[in-house]
Amino acid sequence: MTKPKFITEEIRQSEGKAEPVSNAYMINAGKERQGHCQACGKEINNQYGVKLPNGALLWVGSECKKILCKSDAITLDVAPGTQWTDNGKSYVKPTEDWITRLQIGTMGETLQSIIDRKGLMMCGGLPAKNQFLFSIWDTYRQYGQLTEKQYTAASKSI
Ligand SMILES: [Zn+2]
Repeated sequence: MTKPKFITEEIRQSEGKAEPVSNAYMINAGKERQGHCQACGKEINNQYGVKLPNGALLWVGSECKKILCKSDAITLDVAPGTQWTDNGKSYVKPTEDWITRLQIGTMGETLQSIIDRKGLMMCGGLPAKNQFLFSIWDTYRQYGQLTEKQYTAASKSI
């Protein structure tokens, strides 16, 4: 595998110094996907957001993301409570308070209180009192966000 050629000197200088950025962060900043990698120009299917040290936001492929980003960088994301639309679908990043209420609705208590009581969590051993809310919480755990539809539906029962 040959290393991709970055299209500008600025991008070359950013190697190993950029930060990964969530899709929501990119969309909220008004950055639309280009269909190609904005670092090397190659056509790509999966696009990832990165922030260069100079503040520029680029959609890049997985390979360029790996080369550009610091190895221990934490993905920059939107603030809790933010809503956005991506590809015609609306999403929400819930607040911590909302997630606490969702956990109580799902399991009768918060995840932290279960961990405090039982020690280390057993895989798949969480008590779900409400399967619908559990599926919502599971989605949140995987993606850190919900569709507006899921958020609205769950809000009615927590
Ligand atoms: Zn690339």
